[in-house]
Amino acid sequence: MSGLAVIPSYVVMQPTTLCNLDCAYCYLPFRAADRRMPVAVAEAVAASVNRWARSGRFSVVWHGGEPLAAGREHLAALMAPFAPEVEHHVQTNATLVDDAWCAFFAEHRVRVSVSVDGPRERNDDRVTRGGLPAYDRIVRGVEALRRHDLPFSALAVVSRPGPGCATELYDYFLDLGCDVLGVNIEETEGVNTRGNAHDAAAVTAFWAELVAAWRRAPRIHLREVEWPLRYAAAVLNGTAGELLPRQLDPIPTVGHDGSVVVLSPELAGFSDPRYGDFSSGSVLVTPLAEILTGAAGTPWVGEFLSGVEACRSSCPYFGFCGGGHAANRYFEQGRFDGTETEHCRNSKIRLLEGVLEHARDHESPAA
Ligand code: SF4
Repeated sequence: MSGLAVIPSYVVMQPTTLCNLDCAYCYLPFRAADRRMPVAVAEAVAASVNRWARSGRFSVVWHGGEPLAAGREHLAALMAPFAPEVEHHVQTNATLVDDAWCAFFAEHRVRVSVSVDGPRERNDDRVTRGGLPAYDRIVRGVEALRRHDLPFSALAVVSRPGPGCATELYDYFLDLGCDVLGVNIEETEGVNTRGNAHDAAAVTAFWAELVAAWRRAPRIHLREVEWPLRYAAAVLNGTAGELLPRQLDPIPTVGHDGSVVVLSPELAGFSDPRYGDFSSGSVLVTPLAEILTGAAGTPWVGEFLSGVEACRSSCPYFGFCGGGHAANRYFEQGRFDGTETEHCRNSKIRLLEGVLEHARDHESPAA
């Protein structure tokens, strides 16, 4: 794997910066302001996306702020320029989901992913703008999705991985009814400056416990377990070298104002004296396809690509990880060409170690 691909597998769009919640670990800098994406931005993005979607599956992920805070009418206007074969996804806190939104999702064939951190007592960080717990409203939204038979994914943030936590989480999501689950250990990113260093053995044990819980009832596609298992299988059959993509997916995030930030949505809206606003261009000025063709020349992106090469030559986990995330490097280390971060220790190194620990603990005795 080397360099940046010029055609992404999906595009992230920010229909509004506004979020109706104010979660303690949120990285978004302008979540109290309703800066809405004009339809002209969606039209400009669609001009490139519709072409890509003609030659294979292509997704647009509506991510905020809270994308539903843009309202149904505006979101429909933003989706209208995209060709019917483009798949739409929303990442939502679910608090605004009701029967009308469910009808909207069905009509526009939108795949929904809900952010919820597990049972009520694990959602203390998810609060309204008035500081009240958001959990009951999240669950009401999920109930609406279930009433309408809409399949949904879930995304959980874990701030304190400890014994029992993984089993409790997995059992919760089995009951909730999601068919795909992602589990993130909280990250120090954006305006969230809370530390993310944890005891190594505790994090490894958390992942090992999650694998054990999943193996008892593997009814959910659990991203964090399926990745390492796929990697382990590839190592065993000698194809691990083919697992990483040949080039990094640029994953462009198109901000409300049309600015394009590649690789890490979390950098959108920030600026730095060394790197400027991290943007590689604006779709209101330059076609998205053209911006991506030149994105590797964005100064911070070049620095990040040298960091990936440093990972390749120094880290035994590179074949699984592929070199980490730009935003974690920047927000933890202030630059892009470092290697190990707390994030990659928690979510790559200890994840793989946890899966191996589980495998060792459940090894069949030699005949
Ligand atoms: S695990 Fe960390 S140090 Fe290793 S390749 Fe990934 S980001 Fe780089």
